[in-house]
Amino acid sequence: MKKVNVVFYCPSCGFRSRGSEYYWRCPKCGSPLEVEYASEWKPSGVGLKRYASSLPLTPPKSLGEGSTPLIELDYRGVTVKFKLEYLNPTGSFKDRGSSLAIGLAYLLGYRRVVEDTSGNTGISVTAYASLYNMESIIVMPQYAPKGKKALVKALGGKIIETPTRGDAAVKVLELARDNANYYVAHTYSPLYVEATKTIAYEAWEQGFNGDIVIAPVGSGGLFLGLHKGFKDLLKWGLRNRRHVMIAVEGSSTIRLYPRLYGGKPNITGESKLADGIMVPKPPRLNEIVEALKETRGKVVVVSDKEIVEALKELYMYGLIVEPTSATVLAALKKLIESGNIARGNEVLAPLTGSGLKMIDLIEKIL
Ligand SMILES: [Zn+2]
Repeated sequence: MKKVNVVFYCPSCGFRSRGSEYYWRCPKCGSPLEVEYASEWKPSGVGLKRYASSLPLTPPKSLGEGSTPLIELDYRGVTVKFKLEYLNPTGSFKDRGSSLAIGLAYLLGYRRVVEDTSGNTGISVTAYASLYNMESIIVMPQYAPKGKKALVKALGGKIIETPTRGDAAVKVLELARDNANYYVAHTYSPLYVEATKTIAYEAWEQGFNGDIVIAPVGSGGLFLGLHKGFKDLLKWGLRNRRHVMIAVEGSSTIRLYPRLYGGKPNITGESKLADGIMVPKPPRLNEIVEALKETRGKVVVVSDKEIVEALKELYMYGLIVEPTSATVLAALKKLIESGNIARGNEVLAPLTGSGLKMIDLIEKIL
């Protein structure tokens, strides 16, 4: 077995793991875990590895994740900086987290990883497992997009199909009980949060110096990672301004809005297109609400109609993204219209996933 020392701890009950153990959630109380390590600013090289000094582990292999472009657009007088996360190796920001999570599985001596997902995470997890010559089993509902299933298979993953998404969650827990299987559990995993801090670091190094950060919230890994990353930059004295986190959720999966504002949003229509943010019960919901309160942030709810309009605009800019990614532009438009974002503001908006994986759907929508 390779040498590795990643200590997980539970902020809720104080549980602490030994460095050679892996837990996908707290074995005592079931809460999401954090990783304990000393973090400092010593950037060197390119990609995710550039920030090795502020990450809990350095994976031995890479597919070239990170170092995504930041492009600038003048949108109705607002400077929008789009971080092109869909240009990561498997076409989504999830590659940053998978690089750490699967790297850890390999270092701990696992030979098989298991995950339940119908989306980008399955493709990403499979690609990194294959990089290390490890087996991957992805549990997904029968109705998961054909293109995504095909990619998981092509990358060497095994698919177990279940009737519903809920059945997939039950099936994967059965697999997770086998000690030979490493359950990635990206909605719980602190590694997916830690890895997305690097999006904030990169954006700052590439010239983002505004204070508004808009992120779609599914399980919240991206949102929380960006929040942590900007807090680090402030703590290290690299940036001197505070950031404001804006969370975007779809009208069909509302979780944050009532927690922040107490009522229901005034919106009609579904949001079935933004499949990436349809996570009904994110394990880190309380942390997301805390981050919103801490940064005096906002929640914006968007519908399919708004997503389609925003998606059309993004394609006209030459940005080949999936519908979930378009939620940030849909939210930005609403914030400009309501006067919450004004001319001269500078906004960071990560574009999370590639449209190339679902071009059939994109063709239908556009
Ligand atoms: Zn605990």
